[in-house]
Parts: sequence; C-alpha cells; structure tokens
Amino acid sequence: SGDRKWNFSAGPAVLPLDVLEDAKEDLINYKGTGMSVMEMSHRGKDFMKIAEEAEADLRELIGIPANYKVLFLQGGASSQFSAIPMNLAPEGGVADFILTGAWGKKAYEEAGKYMTTNLAASSKDSNFSTIPDVSDWKLTKDAKFVHICSNETIGGVEFKEVPDTGDVPLVADMSSNYLSKPIDVEKYGIIYGGVQKNIGPAGMAIVIVREDLIGKTHPLCPTMFDYKLMADNDSMYNTPPCWTMYTSGLVFKKLIKMGGLEAVEKMNEEKAKILYDAIDGSDGYYNNPVDKKYRSLMNVPFTLGGGEDLEKKFLKEAAAAGFESLKGHRSVGGARASIYNAMPKEGVQALVDFMADFKAAN
Ligand code: PMP
Repeated sequence: SGDRKWNFSAGPAVLPLDVLEDAKEDLINYKGTGMSVMEMSHRGKDFMKIAEEAEADLRELIGIPANYKVLFLQGGASSQFSAIPMNLAPEGGVADFILTGAWGKKAYEEAGKYMTTNLAASSKDSNFSTIPDVSDWKLTKDAKFVHICSNETIGGVEFKEVPDTGDVPLVADMSSNYLSKPIDVEKYGIIYGGVQKNIGPAGMAIVIVREDLIGKTHPLCPTMFDYKLMADNDSMYNTPPCWTMYTSGLVFKKLIKMGGLEAVEKMNEEKAKILYDAIDGSDGYYNNPVDKKYRSLMNVPFTLGGGEDLEKKFLKEAAAAGFESLKGHRSVGGARASIYNAMPKEGVQALVDFMADFKAAN
C-alpha cells in the first residue's frame, strides 16, 4: 500500500490500514459464509453476530453504563439535529445552544423548527476561535436540553472539559472527535455523531442516549427518528447500514486492542503537538487562530502569513507531494489538517517536514 497518500480529509477520512485490509479479506467471502457482509441478510445469524459484537465492543471501549441505549442510525449527524428536539421536546419548550462554530449553528437552526431555541452563549464575536466561559452562559432554568458541539470540525475548536448543566441534559455532537479520547458518558443526556470522520465509512450516526429521556416522541416524529422504537428494535427496525456497522465494529476492536481510549488520547495529543509546535514555531509563517486552551486535537486549521497567493502555492505543492485534502473548508479558506485517530504520527511528521521545506523555499 505504498502508494496511499497522507490523507488529511475532514471526512470521509483516513481509515486504519489494517482495518481496510481485514475488510478486504472478508469482502468476497466473510469468514467462510460464501458471501460478503454487503450481501447478507441483516436478520441472518452472521450479521446479527456482527451487530451484537459492534454494540458490545463499543460499550466496552467507552464504558457505557447500562442505563444508556446505543443506537446505530442512518442519516448522519445532520438527521439528529431534528431527531433530538423531536425526542426530547415532544411538547416544545426551550433548548439552550452554545455556539462555538458552524456545526453548532446548524443544530441550533434545525432545532428552531421544533421548539424555542435560546442562544445561551456564542463565540461568534471572536470568529468562533474560542469557547465562552461556562460562567457566562445564560442557561434557561427548565430547558429541555443544552446543546454543544464538542469539536467544531471547521474552526478547530474543542471542549476540553464537560460543562456541568445540572439537571438539564447535556447533548453533544461528537462527530469529529468521537472515540478520540475517553468519554464520561454519565455527564451527558445524549452523545451523537456521524462515524465517517473518526470511526468508519460514511452512512451511520451513533447515538448514545440516557434511557429515561426517551419514549415520549413528538406525534409527527418520523418512525425512523424515534429513539425508543429504534432502541426497542436494537437499531434494526429496518435495514441498518450493514457495511458501515461491520467496518466500524472492526475499528472498535482495534481501539480496544490498542489499549482503549486513554491510549488513543495520548497518541492524539502527541500527534497534535507535533503540528501545533510546527505552526507556533514558524514565526508567523503559519498561523492557527484558535485560543490555545481550546485547540482541537483533531482538526487543525491554519493560514499562511504570506497571504492567499502563497497559500494557493502551498496547497498546490502539498497536493503534488501526496498530502491529500489540506484545503480549508470552503467557508473559511486557508488550510486544514484533520488528524483523526487513523492518521499515523508519521503522516503528521511528514506534513511538518513538508511545511518546513516549503517555508525555507518560499
Ligand atoms: N457535526 C459535525 C461536527 C460535523 O463535522 C459534521 C460533518 N462535517 C456534521 C455534524 C454533519 O454530519 P453528517 O454529514 O453525518 O450529517
């Protein structure tokens, strides 16, 4: 696989090579069944075992308490922007939103179709480069939930601590830092995210929801968005995203073998440090705009002090040198390196070497 690129895509993103190789092995004939996972009935015993193991392994990996349901759902994280209000606020009410970037804003706007939304805090004034201090949040006393985006994929801003919202359930979009570090599930009402960044192939969201919060959905809630129904059917009310579940399951097993989420976090801290140190040590040649306290370990946006033309040259030469998808999100420009779990340290090292060479030559 020597011709694989260093892939810094924000998602779908790099997957662990050994997982791809295992999946390839099983692709045509899964463990002697004579079929691919993509071809088998989701109700057959082989796939049922895959699905059960995936949930059991995820529970073990994160340490999910028994009073939380694990749902494997289609429709990505974006569907959850509407599913959450329909499940947690069937009769409306207020939800508090903390805006630290573009994704939290999308969740906020979508929820506004179903209930009253309160902008309890926002870092818009600082161009979403930080997280407003919890003591400044204007929370609603009887809110149905408080929503945060634990890692803003575009801005590269990440919560480092879980905010305490008292009796009001905390809901977190973890799409871009799912399984990148330990998760203290009990501090949340709902954790959700698409898997196509830090876990597996596109096509699925994982929702972890406290049992007592579900069961009273909005009467017009589409069946497919009803958490209780999905939970009662083990996420198999209809045909689940079989291939994504299977591949994500391989990733869960791999992460357990690596020593669990503490080991994963340590590795991610080391990788991110290499890149941030290179940016900070470049005398303004490269810049990351994010408040150092909240810099993401997963998505590292940066600009070139030399301006847009130099940035273009940088991105062009980086692409030619085999660094994939370093272009920043179309809404903000610049460059962005997404360094998810599956990006090896050598990939980050290769990038900072390239950045140093480019600086020396330009
Ligand atoms: N939330 C965050 C933080 C994201 O980064 C993304 C995808 N870029 C989404 C939500 C939307 O995810 P999906 O494409 O799975 O709907």
